[in-house]
Amino acid sequence: MVLISGLGTGGATTMATANALRLDHGLKAVGVDLDAEFAELGREVPVSTAHRARWNETTEKLFSVFEEMGLGPQPLPKMRRRETCGNCGRCLLGCPTGAKWDSRAFLDEAEERGARLVTSCRVLEVVVENGRAAGVVARSGLARKFFPADVVVLAAGGLETPIILGRSGIPCGPGLFVDPVLCVAGPWKKAAQDREIPMPFVAERGPCIFAPYFDLLSYYFNGGWPPGPGNILSLMIKLADERSGAVAAGPVDKGLTSRDTDALTSAVALCAAILGRMGIPKDELFFGTLNAGHPGGSLPLRREDAVTLHPARLPENLFIADATLLPEALGKPPILTIMALAKKVAKRVRRDFA
Ligand SMILES: Cc1cc2nc3c(=O)[nH]c(=O)nc-3n(C[C@H](O)[C@H](O)[C@H](O)COP(=O)(O)OP(=O)(O)OC[C@H]3O[C@@H](n4cnc5c(N)ncnc54)[C@H](O)[C@@H]3O)c2cc1C
Ligand code: SF4
Repeated sequence: MVLISGLGTGGATTMATANALRLDHGLKAVGVDLDAEFAELGREVPVSTAHRARWNETTEKLFSVFEEMGLGPQPLPKMRRRETCGNCGRCLLGCPTGAKWDSRAFLDEAEERGARLVTSCRVLEVVVENGRAAGVVARSGLARKFFPADVVVLAAGGLETPIILGRSGIPCGPGLFVDPVLCVAGPWKKAAQDREIPMPFVAERGPCIFAPYFDLLSYYFNGGWPPGPGNILSLMIKLADERSGAVAAGPVDKGLTSRDTDALTSAVALCAAILGRMGIPKDELFFGTLNAGHPGGSLPLRREDAVTLHPARLPENLFIADATLLPEALGKPPILTIMALAKKVAKRVRRDFA
């Protein structure tokens, strides 16, 4: 399974397809209430389904097929400034018009308020002295630098934060999820899906979601994909996988469990049925490369952390504000939920350490 992470300013939001969903049932179940934070995000991040007015013929036809099959497709809300979005389909490669919202907007605001952003600088470990975080050691070019701090908040994502913690003598347990993605595709003349907004709508069945999605990763890197991007019709399966992986100081250890494999097998059969209704015979279908880009869950919040937002194994002035804290795989776009959670963590830090 190829694991994708967005290393750079703005993180994976810069390569995201801009889907914005509230998915806090798992956090709610352990007592974390994010109503206020989602309301704030509603004022700060432009979200709409206005892209629907520009769907191309293929997307409209697929939507009808999903409806006919009783799959209940729903247009996906997108984080974007709709005036300048032309549904060009390039969200993953970085939006050419700046229409897509990404988290660099928050960094700009933070800098305007006096924050200093240091880029090209990789945090290696948190230095813990007498049970407290004293700061972080980072590598910048060939130099190693120590940044002293009163409070440290790690937000390096679901793969990197556990590695930093592991190097700092605070190992995370197993529990990594990644939301595996598998595309099922077939030939379809003038599908033009490569020039359509990615994931325009979604349907849900069990632990999987289904959405039209031109799989750029497979088109460019999987030798089994035919040339001619405009003539390929592809459906994405995204699975809420079991928390079966581990990431610490070493390499990532993550495979599919038999329950995950069974769910993907059923999902593939459903995709074949959908594409069959579109007129693509089963023996002409081909698969995308199994990949995943929603890592998290290595140090999940539990009921006893609901007020502190602080897993007990961390020093009292060390916090996490990313997908590492999520208690379960969402199997769906997590950005909005991670941002709401990070806001709540920020409030806790400000209240108790300002
Ligand atoms: C191709 C793709 C499309 C996606 N589309 C969507 C979508 O449409 N909607 C949605 O909700 N989700 C989407 N996701 C998932 C979503 O982008 C991620 O789940 C989310 O951004 C994770 O947030 P995070 O804060 O946990 O980590 P990240 O976004 O990965 O942010 C981590 C940050 O930490 C930095 N960092 C990492 N290591 C270090 C270090 N050692 N030192 C210093 N800095 C470090 C990175 O550079 C990065 O800026 C997509 C993911 C991918 C890969
Ligand atoms: S579809 Fe194109 S213009 Fe619209 S947000 Fe995505 S990359 Fe930007």
